[in-house]
Amino acid sequence: MSGTASAKEIEKEALPNEQGRFGDFGGCYVPETLMTALKDLGDEYERAKADPEFQSELAFLLKEFAGRPTGLYYAERLTEELGGARIYFKREDLLHTGAHKINNAIGQALLAKRMGKKRIIAETGAGQHGVATATVCAKMGLECVVYMGSVDMERQKLNVFRMELCGAEVRGVDSGQKTLKDAVNEAMRDWVTNVRDTHYILGSALGAHPYPMMVRDFHRVIGQEVRAEIMEKEGRLPNEMIACVGGGSNAIGLFYEFLDEPDIRLVGVEAGGHGIKQGEHAARFEGGRLGVLQGCKTYILQNDDGQIELTHSISAGLDYAAIGPEHAYYRDIGRIDYAYATDDEVLEAFKVLCRTEGIIPALESTHALAYTIKRAPELAKDQVIVMNLSGRGDKDVNQVAQFLGHDV
Ligand SMILES: *Cc1c(COP(=O)(O)O)cnc(C)c1O
Repeated sequence: MSGTASAKEIEKEALPNEQGRFGDFGGCYVPETLMTALKDLGDEYERAKADPEFQSELAFLLKEFAGRPTGLYYAERLTEELGGARIYFKREDLLHTGAHKINNAIGQALLAKRMGKKRIIAETGAGQHGVATATVCAKMGLECVVYMGSVDMERQKLNVFRMELCGAEVRGVDSGQKTLKDAVNEAMRDWVTNVRDTHYILGSALGAHPYPMMVRDFHRVIGQEVRAEIMEKEGRLPNEMIACVGGGSNAIGLFYEFLDEPDIRLVGVEAGGHGIKQGEHAARFEGGRLGVLQGCKTYILQNDDGQIELTHSISAGLDYAAIGPEHAYYRDIGRIDYAYATDDEVLEAFKVLCRTEGIIPALESTHALAYTIKRAPELAKDQVIVMNLSGRGDKDVNQVAQFLGHDV
């Protein structure tokens, strides 16, 4: 089961290459008009990365505004109940706006300011990335437009209101299925038209180069903190690390620091929905095929004609037909393992965590939890698992109540 690639084979610092490729995956499949913008963005990002002033401003905002560092929490009662490996949670759920997404929103907003761009656009599905972006734009005095499918707007009225409170304009998208994929298309259209004064804050480790690399880098702090924290608490590195994978940003943020530690098993958990049947899930590595979607080449759930398949997950944040290209690469070389959790397993795991630890997890993060609950009893008691608790579940409580037949 565990990865077959040796540490020597993993030259993570060299990836992506100049063309934005991770092996066969990634790249830059966009209209001509955006090529210059992406090139400029990549160049500016390289300069910012090497600029101590940018790095110190970023560190300041992550600490004072977002609430970093987040803790690494030993889940003692859950560990005892399962009777296997010692389980730790990286508490990204305690960040401002409730999830890891703010790490990337802060980084990209700072980059936009550096480039003199005063207008920000973003896309959002469930609204989490939209809220993080609107929040950061309010903080930095940037104009903010968020594209959101009109079906999602109806489902996530509270998040629409949150964004509006922060001064953002939420534009409903009525094309296609009126959900995330359509919102991304609309955001790209806006960017093509307004690229001179506008920066597009993409919300996951997806899309055209340099986004997958840049978003990963803004989340690398998660794994860097974990290394120091687990050394302090356990005096050694973990045996396994587990994270849920939508586009893949929280997972790569946790894993990146440990890719060249061959003894650590890394596991990404996708959304198994109602089970692995066509149109009923969002597990790209269960039947997805190589293709190009919204700027990059990666594994995509599509039919024989290349039409994007319907996807389903109990959690909107994992409900997307494509996976980040870096994950596709590490899956192909055998460095990261992938599993999936179904909606039913997720609901069960959600209840277990509330009951044993008094923590209400986001349904996205609960996919990683469902796998952790299965896995921990298979490992000895002296083994250590670190799981990324990517977000809190306040946003999901209503939905869970409905599923469980509670009237709230
Ligand atoms: C958006 C979201 C995810 C999925 O996005 P990734 O880019 O795969 O991390 C996971 N967890 C939470 C809490 C989210 O809000």
